[in-house]
Amino acid sequence: MANIIESVKEGYNEFKEQFKLNMQFYKRLSSEGQNPFVMYIGCSDSRVIPEKMLNLSEGDVFVVRNVANIIPPKGSKDTSVAAALEFAVQTLNIEQIIVCGHTDCGGITSLAMGVDEQKFSSIIDWVEYARPVLEEVSEDKDDRIGRLIRKNVLLQKQNLLTYPFIRERYEQGSLEIHSWLYDLDKGDIRAYHYSTGRWEPI
Ligand SMILES: [Zn+2]
Repeated sequence: MANIIESVKEGYNEFKEQFKLNMQFYKRLSSEGQNPFVMYIGCSDSRVIPEKMLNLSEGDVFVVRNVANIIPPKGSKDTSVAAALEFAVQTLNIEQIIVCGHTDCGGITSLAMGVDEQKFSSIIDWVEYARPVLEEVSEDKDDRIGRLIRKNVLLQKQNLLTYPFIRERYEQGSLEIHSWLYDLDKGDIRAYHYSTGRWEPI
């Protein structure tokens, strides 16, 4: 345990070195406030780090990560993602939203396979927001989890559009929503093309 936190602190020390070397950059970020150009909504999975995957710096990306990259639709009890969306779109004027799922997603697997109700009651409640995908993906075909994961990314775009301030901007063409999937095996990102119904490399 102690070793783990020591290695975390070591990482912090390395960051502090970088901070000192880039003092001007960080001072500007601190004094001018944030002005990110993209919002990323992805899974909490430790293997999918947007800043690293997209080579972004501090100040570039406004991030929400949760189990299974879920955006509860408007009117849902959980407003944590909605709060971030309101701020990102209406205050920071972000015009690009990326919803990124990933292969081997534990959250979607738990929805599909079920989990211990006593131990994981909150997970069960949370992934319930993704339940509509279960009805869209039949059980008999191969790669059911993979198909559920991909459907879930698309469901989140529909959920985004339940928020009037998002729908309005989207319909006016001043906000773009990207549906992405990160492949853990290959390190590849694919985007869903709504015109062709295909996942293509970005
Ligand atoms: Zn996941």
